Formats: sequence, structure tokens, C-alpha cells
Amino acid sequence: MKKVVKFGGSSLASAKQFKKVGEIIRSDKARRYVVPSAPGKRSKTDEKVTDMLYACYDAASTGASYGKIFSKIKERYEQIIEGLGLNLNLDFEFKKIEENFIAKKGRDYAASRGEYLNGIVMANYLGYEFVDAAEAIFFDDNGNFLADKTDQELSQRLEHIDRAVIPGFYGSKPDGTIKTFSRGGSDVTGSIVAKAIHADIYENWTDVSGFLVTDPRLVENPVPIETITYRELRELAYMGASVLHEDAIFPVRKEGIPINIRNTNKPEDPGTLIVESTCRKPKYVITGIAGKKGFCSINIEKAMMNSEIGFGRKVLDVFEQYGISFEHMPSGIDTMTIFVHQDEFVDYEQSVIAGIHRAVQPDFVDLEADLALIAVVGRGMKSARGTAGRIFSALAHARVNVKMIDQGSSELNIIIGVKNDDFEPAIKAIYDIFITAEI
Ligand code: ASP
Repeated sequence: MKKVVKFGGSSLASAKQFKKVGEIIRSDKARRYVVPSAPGKRSKTDEKVTDMLYACYDAASTGASYGKIFSKIKERYEQIIEGLGLNLNLDFEFKKIEENFIAKKGRDYAASRGEYLNGIVMANYLGYEFVDAAEAIFFDDNGNFLADKTDQELSQRLEHIDRAVIPGFYGSKPDGTIKTFSRGGSDVTGSIVAKAIHADIYENWTDVSGFLVTDPRLVENPVPIETITYRELRELAYMGASVLHEDAIFPVRKEGIPINIRNTNKPEDPGTLIVESTCRKPKYVITGIAGKKGFCSINIEKAMMNSEIGFGRKVLDVFEQYGISFEHMPSGIDTMTIFVHQDEFVDYEQSVIAGIHRAVQPDFVDLEADLALIAVVGRGMKSARGTAGRIFSALAHARVNVKMIDQGSSELNIIIGVKNDDFEPAIKAIYDIFITAEI
């Protein structure tokens, strides 16, 4: 059995957290490949090492004074090393980093040092081998991740290493310069390593016990999701739920490797299991509820629209001309509605209306602003009758006016449009009818 374990910044923010991580790793022999993030925040008001590195580099590379922040970063590592009682000195590494900052080796290089140094500390602490991600994770000259080359080299390299630490977040370009993934990218590294070694499972350790059915800022203490499919996760993540980097699912998904989100501070919690597919019956009909505010709708009406070939294409063409993407497009016989992000749309609204008039000569065009979209997602909806009915009666009871309904053909989600002001009560009402009422 082989497991890849990735630990997020808050799991490695201090020596105390490192010790918890050490215990987790040592308690299971299969946890052989470790991907650390950089030390994160120790409290709400603390700073992440990655943010400090960006700030420090910006100062050093423009000739401003950077000594204070550089010392602060160094101190973070020294405290961890001392707290763990390790015989390790990073002076040489810090000297090299300082020289490279002054030589303007790049912001990506700077940010990556957070994971690099934490990898060295982690390897020393566990007695595992350190494998620099710059030697095994590759990008092309334009900064695009090279999946096949990486997979080949990384699997070859790790084949003969029983236990290794591979720092997250970065790799290198053909000329050797360091390139990082986008923020939170250690999740992606963990997934790449899991694919390369054909892991049985990719454990992603963070500071929450997995995904919750909905946002805890909207509903008090929402229940955790036990099992979720990759498709459900995509739907929820797209609508604003976030725990895992979006790109982290692609490497493992292709290989059928499950991801288990776990809590370093509560290792006894089972967390959330993300799988390709499952026969396990979901506990509730719905898996999750997520949503976003800030949409507006463009309602277009024209008699006999349904028989006018090319109508939809011509309308969408106008949006394309102005570089506006659309989110949803419910339609009736003589009406068509387009949902767009308000902030992308406002600057062009009058031009778009004029464009629509020119393109399809509608009877009228009407705009409505300040709308929210809510996605109710669940593989269980397919086999449960009356899901839509339950949603709408719950919303009616909560006195929420439904502006739009869109059920995807996958029967995996139902999208509901409401006024921004109704967003919170709507989510609460849906949560209560499907979860609270079933507990
Ligand atoms: N340390 C990086 C960040 O703060 C990457 C990560 O934590 O995954 O974004």
C-alpha cells in the first residue's frame, strides 16, 4: 500500500503542528511520500511565509530595504527547527536565497523557497530522502505544466526511493528557472506525485474535516460530506466552494486514485473521500449547496422566436464580441434569458443591448441586476423523485421568489436564480429541508 500525504500551510505553521504531522505520518507505514506546503498562519493575524517571500523579493529586487522581513522569514524556520530539536542549520541556504533575490531570480523562485526549505526541514525530521521538485516537475518555456514528461521522470526517480519528501508548489522550466503553480498549488504537486507512484490514495491534510455540505458562514455547523464524486466537486467548486486547488483533481482523476481530505488537528475524523464513482448510497439526497452573488440577466423577447433559425447564435455572438462569458441560458418559446457576471457586463451593457437589437430585432430587451445563483448538487437526485418539488416548496415557505430554474441534463445539479438579498435565506431553506429535516 502506498499513500501520498500532502500537508497544507496551517498544518506546518509551527513546531507544534509539525509534531502532529509527524505522528500522523508515523502512525501509518503506507504514508511514504510527503508533500509539504510552506509554513502558513499560526493565528488569524499571522502571515504566511509565501506572502512574506513575495514581499521580501519585491523589496530586494528593486533595491529597497528587505533585511527585516528576510530575518522574520528565517526566524520562522529557526523556531520550527529548534522546537523539533533538529540538528539542522539553514544558514547556507538562506545565504544563497539572499544572493538570488539580489540577482533577480524571479518572484516564482522567491515564493518556491517556502516549500523548498520546509521540505528540507520535513525530510530531516522524518529521516526521509529530500527530492527537489525542480528536478522532477517540469514546465515548458511558456510556463505550461508538462504532465507526461513529469510523470515519466518523477516515477523513475521515486521508483527506487522508499520514502521521500517532495516540496509542493513548484517545478522548473527547460532553462532551469523555477516556476510555481498558482496559489495553493501544493495540492497539485500532491496529485502529480500520487499519479507518478500509482498511489492507492492521495491524502490531503488541512485544517478542516473535509468538505461541508454548505458554507459555514451561511449555515451554522453544516454537516461534512463523507463521499463526493469528482463531477459533483467540480460543480460545487465552480460555484464557490473551495478547499482544494481546482487543478488538483486532474492527475489523479485519470488514474482512478481517490483523494481523502483530512484534518491535521482532528486526525480521527474520516474527512471527505473524493472518488470517480461510487455505489455508496449518499447519506442525503443532495451532496452540497453552493452559490455566488453578483449576476445579472438579460431577458430577450420576440414573438415567434422559436421558429427563427440562428437566433440563439446571433445573440451569443454579441456577447462574444465584447468578451463576456455567459453562465446560464434558460429559454422559453418567445423568450431567451442570458445570465452573466455583473462586473464583466456593466461597462458594455448599452453596447450589448444595441448589438442585440441590430442582430435579431427583438420586441424588447430587459435587464435585471443583483441576482444570485445557487447550485444544489447531488448524484442522489437522479434516483430521488420530487427533489425539485422539495426545493421549491422550501423556498416558498422561506418567502424566496425564484427567478430562474435550470436543471442540467446530467441530473446532477439544479441551478436556481434568486435576488442577491434572498441568497442566504434560500441556502438555509434548502439545507434545512434536505439535511436538518433528515438528521
Ligand atoms: N505556499 C503556497 C501558497 O501559499 C502554495 C500552497 O500552500 O499550496 O499559495
